[in-house]
Amino acid sequence: MDAEIIAVGSELLTPFRTDTNSLYLTEQINQLGVEVVYKCVVGDDLKRLVAAAQHALFRSEIVIFSGGLGPTEDDLTREAVAEALGLPLHRDEEILAGIERRFAARGWKMSANNAKQADVLEGAVVLPNPNGTAPGQWLSGKFDGRERIVILLPGPPHELKGLFEAECRERLRAKLPPAFLATRVLKVAMLGESHVDARVAPIYKRFADVQTTILAGAGEIQLHFKSRAETMEAAQARVDEAADAVEEELDDTVYSRNGESLEQIVGYWLQMRNATLAVAESCTGGLLGERITSIGGSSRYFAGGAIVYADAVKTELAGVPADMIERHGAVSREVAAALAEGIRYRCEATLGIGITGVAGPSGGTPEKPVGLVFHALASAGGTEVIERNFPGDRKRIRWFATTLALDMVRKKLM
Ligand code: AMP
Ligand code: MG
Repeated sequence: MDAEIIAVGSELLTPFRTDTNSLYLTEQINQLGVEVVYKCVVGDDLKRLVAAAQHALFRSEIVIFSGGLGPTEDDLTREAVAEALGLPLHRDEEILAGIERRFAARGWKMSANNAKQADVLEGAVVLPNPNGTAPGQWLSGKFDGRERIVILLPGPPHELKGLFEAECRERLRAKLPPAFLATRVLKVAMLGESHVDARVAPIYKRFADVQTTILAGAGEIQLHFKSRAETMEAAQARVDEAADAVEEELDDTVYSRNGESLEQIVGYWLQMRNATLAVAESCTGGLLGERITSIGGSSRYFAGGAIVYADAVKTELAGVPADMIERHGAVSREVAAALAEGIRYRCEATLGIGITGVAGPSGGTPEKPVGLVFHALASAGGTEVIERNFPGDRKRIRWFATTLALDMVRKKLM
């Protein structure tokens, strides 16, 4: 069985509101072993809503509407579904009395427009809404000769969630063949998407029953694996087989096997090795420290560091010799190494990181263009420096630099 979600509301077609309900619903539906194959956003317009409903009812077995169940004139989901299914709406006196009681309890008088929230599609099960006035509705049966499940849910996210959990999840499960969905996420740092794809594509082919998705973000690639089976064990086994095969191919570039963030993994390794970390950041301006300390408990392994933006501060706080900066420039292999060694020494940490580069958009030269960053990692065994030319704007360059630095720490400790 396949599902389709229709998010109703003109505000969702503006730049100011995002349809988040469909993300929540997709996650829930997937957990029941059902895939969401279409979703759409439709404004508060009866004709367009009817057309969208007709399309959805034709092609998808489960159709879930979010929003448009309120009391105002532009709340048209009930009317649209009634028209698409050719079913009458009737006013439910019990729901109406409930809405009136809700208003009375607050000492308010119910205005007349609220009554339409008591309109129910013929044959629908009314789903009580503990967090609001508009109840949800559930219809299942044969429409136009096709077996369908149609669900109407209110738009406010807390109402939609409350209703889905209380009224829809088990109802849906009872209608579905037993199916379990297992998922795994592998994360890879600092490799290109096409490079990763070329290496793993042959493996994907061997696991035709495992659905794979590749998502690329700044400096990180996520590989998502999904498999459905009649038992959780069977589904998990297939997902694990596929993920393990990919991990073997990508080797130590895979930093996370179960969705953890790079910051979490670095923290994990530092604790495993009983090591501490200090940072001296120039062009990243504290972003690396921010990422490391975003993890609760990072005080166990993060000593601290310095934002060494000005040359004099590189000397003062990280002990970089002034004549070294003079000779090689602040953005250089030598200064990066000196920053890492200096901060490691001054913070008495096991490992020290130094980052210096040109984040742009100004300040680039032919020899040292925007995007050039030196990353150094100092340890008892010596100092390694990685030089990179990152593409993109200031924000991306800074993010890439901190990701690469974190990955250097991970690889060092692995
Ligand atoms: P409605 O039920 O259409 O009256 O929606 C009420 C409010 O819920 C809207 O003003 C939005 O702020 C919010 N809302 C509606 N649909 C969504 C959606 N798909 N995702 C997130 N918020 C929504
Ligand atoms: Mg609305």
